[in-house]
Amino acid sequence: PPDSAIISVTRAIVSGKYNGYGPSHGYLKARQAIAEKYTLYNKEADITRTLTEEDICITSGCSGALRIAMSVLAGHGDNVLIPKPGFGLYKTINGNNNVQSREYNLLPDEDWQIDLKHMESLIDENTKFILINNPSNPCGAVYSRIHLNNIIKIAEKYQLPIISDEIYGNMVFPGETFISLPSLTNEVPILVTSGIAKQYCCPGWRLGWIMIYDCHFRFGLNIRNAIRRLSQVIVGSNTLI
Ligand SMILES: *Cc1c(COP(=O)(O)O)cnc(C)c1O
Repeated sequence: PPDSAIISVTRAIVSGKYNGYGPSHGYLKARQAIAEKYTLYNKEADITRTLTEEDICITSGCSGALRIAMSVLAGHGDNVLIPKPGFGLYKTINGNNNVQSREYNLLPDEDWQIDLKHMESLIDENTKFILINNPSNPCGAVYSRIHLNNIIKIAEKYQLPIISDEIYGNMVFPGETFISLPSLTNEVPILVTSGIAKQYCCPGWRLGWIMIYDCHFRFGLNIRNAIRRLSQVIVGSNTLI
């Protein structure tokens, strides 16, 4: 981890101020800092995605963010779309929630882009969200603007929200560009999951977050409240970190 992070955490311990429980969805200052860092601006499309502290829920790692995001959008008897091959936790969470995992293929001969026809063919009236992982684990794919726009088109056509796991956001090789999905759409409500584990090399510190990008308030208060309430189950997040 960067020295600045190690020094800050050391100070936090020594200060004695962070030994108690905090707000389950994270300290206000931390949520404000995340909202500021992840406010997106897309010059080409003239889209600004302003986040406020109300749009952030701090969690126990990105895993905690995924568990909450996936659990508020689907329940028993529903199905959801996840990548194949994909990060194993997606299936685990769905199994735990009695949600059916429908796996859309990634194409090895097309830089592991999504087989969009296959993805679309899996959707029915019980489908509750599409989950994408960009940049992808384990494939290392970084999706282009065109590809991301095509995913958005499918979500729009079937009025499905998207969970975008962007834990590897900005961790791309020189010459590649990472585009955060919500910078490309006004219409599709998106929950982005992220955290400090990979970029700052400290997975054991257990700090992640959900960002709610929802221009037209389509998730409504129900989803926002449910996210907040699920964060209270483990009296998260980690106050020291
Ligand atoms: C590591 C990883 C996570 C979980 O990150 P934590 O913050 O350690 O919980 C989520 N999604 C993907 C794709 C990952 O590789």
